[in-house]
Amino acid sequence: MATTFRVGIGYDIHRLAEGRRLVLGGVEIDYPLGLLGHSDGDVVLHAVTDALLGAAGLPDIGDLFPDTDPAYKDIDSRELLATAIEKVAEAGYAPNNIDLIVHAEKPKLSEHKGAMASSIALLTGLGTSAVSVKAKTNEGLGPLGHADGIACTATVSIVNKPKP
Ligand code: MG
Repeated sequence: MATTFRVGIGYDIHRLAEGRRLVLGGVEIDYPLGLLGHSDGDVVLHAVTDALLGAAGLPDIGDLFPDTDPAYKDIDSRELLATAIEKVAEAGYAPNNIDLIVHAEKPKLSEHKGAMASSIALLTGLGTSAVSVKAKTNEGLGPLGHADGIACTATVSIVNKPKP
């Protein structure tokens, strides 16, 4: 079977707010603020999920899991990613590698990059060498630079896999 290779891109941003847990890439990070959202607000998993869906030519995360649907209220974003991977598999593809950037002025994420990469690798069935997590500040510029929120940009490649 010829190898078919496709790529997708995903982006997400959520506001930081009091009284919320901060969860990034499925990893809970100790910080006084967390990300607002209908779900747990995990921008990293949302960007990865959207990149995977896009790579497979499937409807996006907002179409599949509308924030008007109470079923997704406070849902663990790991569940959304797992559902997306199932849909990608039904379309005949599997994740191949992931490269992402977390845009966060605060908290400093350098010490959490490894844990996020391991978590995402586990969730997507990839080896840790196939998952790259980079953390960037916004150099103090704009809302992200004022630490009003956290964003993530992700690219994902997928390859076709033989139907079982
Ligand atoms: Mg989101």
